[in-house]
Amino acid sequence: MTVKDMQYRLEQKRHVKTDIPGPRSAELAARRSKVVASGVASSNPFFVQDADGGVLLDVDGNSFIDLGTGIAVTSVGASAPAVVGAVKEQVEHFTHTCFMVSPYEGYVEVCEALAELAPGDFEKKAALFNSGSEAVENAIKIARIATGRTAVVAFDHAYHGRTNLTMALTAKAAPYKSANGKSFGPFAPEVYRMPLSYPFREENPNITGKEAAERAILQMEKQIGGESIAAMIIEPIQGEGGFIVPAEGFLPRLAEYAREKGIVFIADEVQAGFCRTGAWFASEHEGIEPDLITVAKGIAGGMPLSGVVGRAELLDAVHGGGLGGTYGGNPVACAAALGAIETMREHDLNGAARRIEELVLPRLEKLAQETGIIGDVRGRGAMLAMEFVQKGSADSVKTPDADVVKKIAADCLAEGVIILTTGTYGNVIRLLPPLVISEELLLDGLEVLEAAVRKHA
Ligand SMILES: *Cc1c(COP(=O)(O)O)cnc(C)c1O
Repeated sequence: MTVKDMQYRLEQKRHVKTDIPGPRSAELAARRSKVVASGVASSNPFFVQDADGGVLLDVDGNSFIDLGTGIAVTSVGASAPAVVGAVKEQVEHFTHTCFMVSPYEGYVEVCEALAELAPGDFEKKAALFNSGSEAVENAIKIARIATGRTAVVAFDHAYHGRTNLTMALTAKAAPYKSANGKSFGPFAPEVYRMPLSYPFREENPNITGKEAAERAILQMEKQIGGESIAAMIIEPIQGEGGFIVPAEGFLPRLAEYAREKGIVFIADEVQAGFCRTGAWFASEHEGIEPDLITVAKGIAGGMPLSGVVGRAELLDAVHGGGLGGTYGGNPVACAAALGAIETMREHDLNGAARRIEELVLPRLEKLAQETGIIGDVRGRGAMLAMEFVQKGSADSVKTPDADVVKKIAADCLAEGVIILTTGTYGNVIRLLPPLVISEELLLDGLEVLEAAVRKHA
């Protein structure tokens, strides 16, 4: 079976019949502004009523094409039948026991799936948590216990979360760490930041991935000393940083250096993992076998679940009771994950992600050539992005253009297409369609996006 055999509950059509937001959404927005903290912002002004396949329905009856999946989460759709069925079945029996108190099979089954799917021909184990940030925190905890070292290396443009340690690992200040002269700090110590391989913005455009890795390794040796580093954490394709794909050879050289120095190599696949890039894990594209992998977002069809999977001896280095949490690996979330993984397998969603790349990438490249305001088109599978620059600067200074990105996103929204913006400079449009989206709907969404880009070129 493939995505072509997919049955949808909601009509898979774009349909805008009110202003956005419509009257009912505007009412809810007024209520929201009285009681919801303004620190929690939403990029879209409408309120959601229903979602299925590639569409999101708002409370005023508008139907949007969802090219954002709630930030790479609902890869199997927001109400995938296998997820809904598994969740219903589980909630009718028990919603919680706490795995640390009274264990249950679903948790074990998810760990079995993680150990089977993660790259690496070695014995693997896993532990489950709730959010991506929590998975990252725990991967670092494991690495520190296993190595007896404290220093952690992260990279430019990285995003690893919003808790205290993960804010420290995240590169971008506003809005995550500080803004307008005020800060969420002090941040966790012993975090060192190294230069990434960012092909579009390299000073020397001919630098290879391996050379970019040597540049980072030299700094690690000089500033920290390899033998003092507990862990190196990196997103194989960066998410919030702007879908930056490091040059070929960068990740393998870093992994090799980590192995030489006894550093735990952690791939943060919270965004790129679980079929998003056309493979179970983005690490596979470069043939790397991370010591630990963090997963979340796409794993459970929208239910909150995250995990750390990797070398059994690392996970087992932690003393009994050292890892856990009240809700980690909640039984309903585990049931959802098993439903999501079943959907990924049965409908070959890795193949679907590769098909999306085949359809979309050439069109974005053509758009870049025609308009002259897109400096770079990049990504893999259904994780694709365009980096916008001021006209005429694409081959020279590459001046980021965040304003045009905002305008394009607003135009898309008005026409019924949800896209997400991102990047260190706020000048990237990223596409994260559900992997189950029909070709027809995807192409309709793409045409709206192309028209909006042309309008502002
Ligand atoms: C989203 C994300 C996180 C944080 O996940 P939360 O569930 O929001 O805590 C960590 N790492 C990466 C790569 C992410 O994309």
